[in-house]
Amino acid sequence: MTESNNAPVSFDALGLPEVLSTALKAMGFENPTPIQAMTIPPLLEGRDVLGEAQTGTGKTAAFGLPALASIDTSIRKPQMLVIAPTRELAIQVAEAIEQFAKNMKGLRVATVYGGQSYGPQFAQIERGAQVIVGTPGRMMDHLRRKSLKLENVKFCALDEADEMLNMGFLEDIEWILDHLNDETQMALFSATMPPQIRKIANRFLKDPEHLRVAPVKQVKANITQLAWKVSGLNKKTALERVSEVIEYKAMIVFVRTRNDTVEVAEHLESKGFAAAAINGEMNQAQRERTVDQLRNGTLKILVATDVVARGLDIPSIDLVVNYDLPDDNEVYVHRIGRTGRAGREGTSISFIRPREMYRVRHYERLTSGRVEDYELPTIQEIGKSRIERTKQELLDILANNDIAEMMKVVETMAEESEMSTEHLAAALLFNKQLKQPLFPKEDPKPRREARDRDDRGNRRDARRGDRDNRGERGDRGDRGERQRKPKTTRSDVDWQTYRLEVGKEHGAKPGDIVGAIANEISLDSSYIGQINLFDRHSFVQLPKNMPTNVYKKLKGVRVRRQAIDISLSEAPIATQKRKPRGDKQRRYN
Ligand code: ADP
Ligand code: MG
Repeated sequence: MTESNNAPVSFDALGLPEVLSTALKAMGFENPTPIQAMTIPPLLEGRDVLGEAQTGTGKTAAFGLPALASIDTSIRKPQMLVIAPTRELAIQVAEAIEQFAKNMKGLRVATVYGGQSYGPQFAQIERGAQVIVGTPGRMMDHLRRKSLKLENVKFCALDEADEMLNMGFLEDIEWILDHLNDETQMALFSATMPPQIRKIANRFLKDPEHLRVAPVKQVKANITQLAWKVSGLNKKTALERVSEVIEYKAMIVFVRTRNDTVEVAEHLESKGFAAAAINGEMNQAQRERTVDQLRNGTLKILVATDVVARGLDIPSIDLVVNYDLPDDNEVYVHRIGRTGRAGREGTSISFIRPREMYRVRHYERLTSGRVEDYELPTIQEIGKSRIERTKQELLDILANNDIAEMMKVVETMAEESEMSTEHLAAALLFNKQLKQPLFPKEDPKPRREARDRDDRGNRRDARRGDRDNRGERGDRGDRGERQRKPKTTRSDVDWQTYRLEVGKEHGAKPGDIVGAIANEISLDSSYIGQINLFDRHSFVQLPKNMPTNVYKKLKGVRVRRQAIDISLSEAPIATQKRKPRGDKQRRYN
């Protein structure tokens, strides 16, 4: 087995054809990574390779480039097969290969994975794709249906083999590999080499070169990883606070969908931050312009999806915010790797919902690092930092400008108005802070909660596997809250907001909630205030200081067969002034 050495080499020295090395230059790949330097030469020679390297070491190019070099684009049949564990990884690999091959005329890539309908996949294969990238299950389906034939396949790569093992794909992979010609060149890549993977290697690889890049434990040591457990405040407000109080040169915020990039960026902009969205709807030129603006400091914050942020290399990025967590834990590693470039210090803050907390352990394992709890800046701290900034601003003005004339004006004003200069300074300050108050108050607007939705649908979408439905487009429309503005709500009641673990996805309607609560504790419905329904939870206003036994009783209530699991919420629903109606005695039984 050969371990990595760090002798610098160039791509040209590895013997890659020019059609590939020019594409690499365009992609900004200057030198090969260690695993690439080790695996490309033997793979170009036609040898089999067993490659052991962690995430982010550049494995896609390590097998993708030499495999592409062996493809005859005049033959419009599958010649290269890549098996990857998940739909996301398959798509990523396919996209990378398309980029590597962008100067190879006539080269086509087909991506096959579960959850998507067969039609487009048949079409892609039939158009003469030479490269097939896919997940094991769907690849088997295509083989069974004979829509995919392997007799011309000269190269097969297993990507993230240990992950496929973990996901129970071992037998599927063996089944697929059994369909390959004996001469097919094999590359097996894995972050670890458990015995089952070695067995596959022994069975399907011919005298392979075993190449390994030793995991670099401290690779992410310069990145401080923080996690804010989402509670109390919604994510937009949280992001606002982070953007305002933490010091950073450039920040990248990861969100799930294209729509979210726009929405979150616009929100930040409206609050006075130099933020912009970057997403797949923008063309390459627009994206580059935006990235340049971040690079030169015109913009401070980019709000991006994974798809467009991949490969972003901007050394000034010193803060990464995971506004939404990625479906794939490894993507987390890629994301936070956008900061801490070239040994600089970086920070990542992830907004993690209580039910997603288990992921922290995976992140720690994947980064060999610690993820620390992060407390959001309080409203008081925000005020303090604003005052501090204002002071700095004033001192800068004093240091850099001649203000003698202004001094005269102030003196005259003070004399004429018989006010102290402190009074006048305070009045100016008062005026200045109207847009951004020096003593900010908690923002009570509940509608924000609508955007702070659950990770609803991810699991469903992951199973369904449709890329388009994965949120880039799929979650318009139904994300907003449904509100009840009851005509019968009383204005003389001291309200408290409660959270219920039942929402639209369970089929709940405001009426169901009113009915269930009113019945269970014999409460007149005029004592049930506003109800905001979200996908998987809802908020309801009930009178403050409910007796414990009543509260306990409510705990067991079910709506649409879903336990409401009522809890106190810190997020207030905006109380709207309503006409009092009825004056029934408040009555709990
Ligand atoms: P792995 O599969 O090992 O996790 P990838 O192949 O996905 O790694 O590469 C990780 C990132 O590094 C990608 O953004 C890729 O574009 C980038 N990358 C890979 N090789 C190079 C290189 N030689 N120079 C610059 N960037 C590279
Ligand atoms: Mg990979």
